Amino acid sequence: MSKRDYYEVLGVSRSASDDELKKAYRRCAMKYHPDRNPGDKDAEEMFKQCKEAYEVLSDPHKRRVYDQHGHAAFEHGMGGAGGGPGYADMGDIFGDIFGNIFGGGAPRGPRRGADIAYVMELSLEEAVAGIEKQIQVPTLDNCETCDGTGSADGKLETCPTCHGRGNVRFQRGIFSMQQTCPHCGGRGQVISAPCGDCHGQGRVEVTRTLSVKVPAGVDTGDRIRLAGEGEAGAPGAPPGDLYIDVRVREHEIFQRDGDDLHCEVPVRFSQAALGATIQVPTLEGDVELRIPPETQTGKLFRLRDKGVRSVRSRKRGDLYCRIVVETPVNLTAEQRELLEKFEATFTGENARRHSPRSSTFLDGVRGFWDRMTS
Ligand SMILES: [Zn+2]
Ligand SMILES: [Zn+2]
Repeated sequence: MSKRDYYEVLGVSRSASDDELKKAYRRCAMKYHPDRNPGDKDAEEMFKQCKEAYEVLSDPHKRRVYDQHGHAAFEHGMGGAGGGPGYADMGDIFGDIFGNIFGGGAPRGPRRGADIAYVMELSLEEAVAGIEKQIQVPTLDNCETCDGTGSADGKLETCPTCHGRGNVRFQRGIFSMQQTCPHCGGRGQVISAPCGDCHGQGRVEVTRTLSVKVPAGVDTGDRIRLAGEGEAGAPGAPPGDLYIDVRVREHEIFQRDGDDLHCEVPVRFSQAALGATIQVPTLEGDVELRIPPETQTGKLFRLRDKGVRSVRSRKRGDLYCRIVVETPVNLTAEQRELLEKFEATFTGENARRHSPRSSTFLDGVRGFWDRMTS
């Protein structure tokens, strides 16, 4: 029997969002739940298919693999009692495809739970100082009713398909091949009476609240691993890990470059010309910075050890302040008069002597015309 497309099973488009998938799955699960359709084999089959489809499509990694390879990527191991094993990485998937062709190679026995990735957004201040944050992670936890065994009475039976070996052999031409038992998923045992709360899966969907200690100095791209906080494994197997992916939001004053910080500091043009002591922001509040007379716009000042303390080396980065000379606005009559007087002093050679950039620029233009006309 050829398998139905997972998207078709859930009745959603291939571009369905996580939310749409979840809703579609809830709808299917309600409709076909065995408790609502006692003895109805078709409903039971539909329920299984929906669950399987949702298991794959709700996991971004598995979904990508399914979109690329279709059912071929998941043919072995899914649908056995106790639920499909988690597909933690590409190695596992290839292990499944090739392991079954060449015999051996595919891991036997129950598999550890899937890893979970969680994106944590932090403000720059939080990232720099470190913080303890509560997060809510949707995950699979061991079912309490059956203690994660999936069995209502705690009893397991030897798998009738593989007789407890966990794999089955079959003949293809002159080759004798071996594959993970599709009935028991390689465990060698099956549940005689599935637990009513987890439907034999041994795991239930929960939202776990965790407290995460984020060390000081983290940056976008850093990853925090919480061992054993991923999804519960199949009965008898360890849980997966939880990976926190850090993302630091843009700051309104500081741009971060590794452990260094950059910011722009506007100064009046008269301050830039005369020199001044100005206030510049740092992570610990304002500090004074002395700028010398005749400071040009764009000039960088480095404030040592006013950057971010590295999460790895514990050394502190620097803060770079870039001076931006500001044109005054809303001039009073008096200011205008002063500036007009000031402007009137820029005549002839004077104009060039006091304007380093303009004179370099004008020299450049002149040189350009000389070359054009010679
Ligand atoms: Zn078996
Ligand atoms: Zn249970």
